[in-house]
Amino acid sequence: MGLSKFLVDHMLGRMCRWLRIMGFDSKYVSSGYDDQQVIEECRKLGAILITRDRELASRYFPSILISSTDLNTQLRQFLSIYPFDRSLLLTRCTECNGVLEQKERGEIENTLQYQTQKSYDIFYRCISCGRTYWKGPHYRNIIKRIEVILGSDENPR
Ligand SMILES: [Zn+2]
Repeated sequence: MGLSKFLVDHMLGRMCRWLRIMGFDSKYVSSGYDDQQVIEECRKLGAILITRDRELASRYFPSILISSTDLNTQLRQFLSIYPFDRSLLLTRCTECNGVLEQKERGEIENTLQYQTQKSYDIFYRCISCGRTYWKGPHYRNIIKRIEVILGSDENPR
């Protein structure tokens, strides 16, 4: 499942970011694209289209039509089809969708604040843009949020 590629409609920017956090290969559509260009891009990438546009979804297969404007509901809808896999956390850059490479402290010298560098042993660096991630407080907040999303499945809106 982790190998599927997704192309995310420009109306779903926050959702796209969260899909990357959860390790899904999610490319974001440029806002200038018209429907035909979106469909061509999907074909080129062999991607699954994620959109809120009913007509666009009907023109391309496979696609996922997102009905809600609420982020948690959107993610729940997605995760009901592609289950969350914790081992994929910290494998994608949230900024650019690049693949993250695991690095040890010594390998990321001088790119982070001394305090951060000293406090963690393992880092994750994007091979495309060079952004570095680590399991700090922000990461724990992400885990909590995902648990909320997953845990409220049985509570309808
Ligand atoms: Zn990146």
